[in-house]
Amino acid sequence: MEQLLDAAVIGGGPAGLNAALVLGRARKNVIVIDEGLPRNRVTHESHGFLTRDGIKPDEFRRIAVEQIGAYPSVRFASDIAVETTGTDGDFRIMTKRGDDYRAKKLLFAVGKKDRLPEIDGLTDVYGKSAFVCPYCDGWELRDRPLAVIAKGERAFHFAKTILGWSDRIALCTDGPDELTDGQREELRVRGIPLFDAPIRRIVSEHGMVSRVELEDGASVSCTGIFFAPTLLPGSDLPRSLGCELTPTGSVAVTDALGKSSVPGVYVAGDIATELNQLIQAAAMGAMAGAGINAELLAEAWEARGRAMSS
Ligand SMILES: Cc1cc2nc3c(=O)[nH]c(=O)nc-3n(C[C@H](O)[C@H](O)[C@H](O)COP(=O)(O)OP(=O)(O)OC[C@H]3O[C@@H](n4cnc5c(N)ncnc54)[C@H](O)[C@@H]3O)c2cc1C
Repeated sequence: MEQLLDAAVIGGGPAGLNAALVLGRARKNVIVIDEGLPRNRVTHESHGFLTRDGIKPDEFRRIAVEQIGAYPSVRFASDIAVETTGTDGDFRIMTKRGDDYRAKKLLFAVGKKDRLPEIDGLTDVYGKSAFVCPYCDGWELRDRPLAVIAKGERAFHFAKTILGWSDRIALCTDGPDELTDGQREELRVRGIPLFDAPIRRIVSEHGMVSRVELEDGASVSCTGIFFAPTLLPGSDLPRSLGCELTPTGSVAVTDALGKSSVPGVYVAGDIATELNQLIQAAAMGAMAGAGINAELLAEAWEARGRAMSS
């Protein structure tokens, strides 16, 4: 077993990496354990992060790791944390490769995973011409004919939002629409076609969608898709360690720095928010890094006082 580190960061997306940067600059001994499957890995470009608009996800990570490399107290492990035990001051992290780390504080920056609707052809276009977030990819699909694939309240909200980027949208609910009569009427009045037959398949070439075919024989021509995936926690470890969850499955935080309900355990990024954006994740990581450092400094202050007065 290893020395007792100051902090273990599980997850090396923007949240975990920004926490590691702050902790490294604060001279803390840190291990970043990362499986390397960030949520946006299917895309060619990331958008909306000031100074990084249009950057490839791999390049974003490469620059981050290079910059963190200037702080020698931060180490990286390409591995999967499979079990976390212990309490504040001495957590233990076991990995898939069989390594065993000990750390005073723990940060879960494990992100979320998208479960895609089971639609034939969707994985071919995901990240190329089908996306989940108009703030991330709406500009690239502006003014195009778009299919919006979702049901119920989410479909209604999505349709209203995506109109900000293109007014050539059709709503495909892939079976019963789960809308209210009022919502159907609002869509009708605004000229938004509604297709509630099950989707047979998405037709594309080299990842670029050309139409959505429905089981009733209808076909929706489009050159882009927005769809609503189901979001799942990136890892079950926070829940296993006793962290309280919100009704949507995120880990609940008790302050602005990302403290969870378990002492010594912090969370940052998508796992702890519904505002799933790179810059939000990075900011939460930076705050969690500062929170962890503040706790470590307070504990060191107390220990120093005890040592000096004994
Ligand atoms: C298709 C798509 C496109 C997007 N485009 C944009 C965009 O253009 N702009 C934008 O701002 N946002 C975009 N987003 C959202 C953005 O990807 C997320 O908000 C962001 O990645 C969240 O960062 P994070 O650090 O919380 O999690 P992630 O980036 O998902 O990183 C989590 C990391 O933790 C690792 N991990 C999980 N469990 C373990 C474990 N047990 N052990 C070790 N490692 C583990 C994962 O493998 C992963 O590397 C997009 C999302 C999607 C799905």
